[in-house]
Amino acid sequence: MRLCSIASGSSGNCIYAGSDATHILVDVGISGKRVEMGLAKLGIAGSELDGILITHEHADHVSGLGVIARKYGVPIYATRGTINALRRMNGTGKLEDDLFHEIHEDEKFTIKDLVIAPMQISHDAAQPVAYRIAYGDKRVGICTDLGCYNDYTAECLKGMDALLIEANHDVNMLQVGPYPYYLKQRILGDRGHLSNENSGRLLSRILHDKLQTILLGHLSKENNLPELAYEAVRMEITMGDNPYRADDFRMLVAPRSEMSPIVELL
Ligand SMILES: [Zn+2]
Ligand SMILES: [Zn+2]
Repeated sequence: MRLCSIASGSSGNCIYAGSDATHILVDVGISGKRVEMGLAKLGIAGSELDGILITHEHADHVSGLGVIARKYGVPIYATRGTINALRRMNGTGKLEDDLFHEIHEDEKFTIKDLVIAPMQISHDAAQPVAYRIAYGDKRVGICTDLGCYNDYTAECLKGMDALLIEANHDVNMLQVGPYPYYLKQRILGDRGHLSNENSGRLLSRILHDKLQTILLGHLSKENNLPELAYEAVRMEITMGDNPYRADDFRMLVAPRSEMSPIVELL
């Protein structure tokens, strides 16, 4: 099983996960051309895509959805609230109704040899979810765009072999930065985004011996730096109430506009 961030950040998200036989994207918030270039580096053609999982309708997650879904006739999986929100939006263009497949939080479904488990997250969108994707006994969790987490979130994300998790902002950079007050409040709120510290605290609760790789993602361009995110999360892990040190895990920051290294789970 492979996991790769084609793009991750507040200006566009597209994550690949797949097995030898099945290829899926989580969100398509970049141009169709960039998606195709990313897939090509993975040795996959757009026509081989088996499904697109949508987390929520914000533009940084769906701006390229219409192009890719129409061009290749790829099934789109999303919650009812997200589907309705997408239908109301103009940005994605017309999408045929039969491309949409409604999914439900906490109800697993399969796409060929992959088992997908959607989970609720707290974010200011219609009906947002995060996803866990399993192939055999390997599991990856892809969890971005959440303002807060709780016991449910931690429980859902336990036992993953690889995690892509949001480390959106440095609280100080956000507070002194150029964003207007209402936007700062939105990002800091319970339905906004995880700060670097909160990302590290959530990770501290879900670390386990078999976790191979942590990808930090959805970094804010204005309010974060890769080094800050990396160090803050490592600090929380090492200081946190867990038996681990940050060095026990391979941790990478997913680049905003380039592909991450390919995470191969064996
Ligand atoms: Zn986002
Ligand atoms: Zn969002």
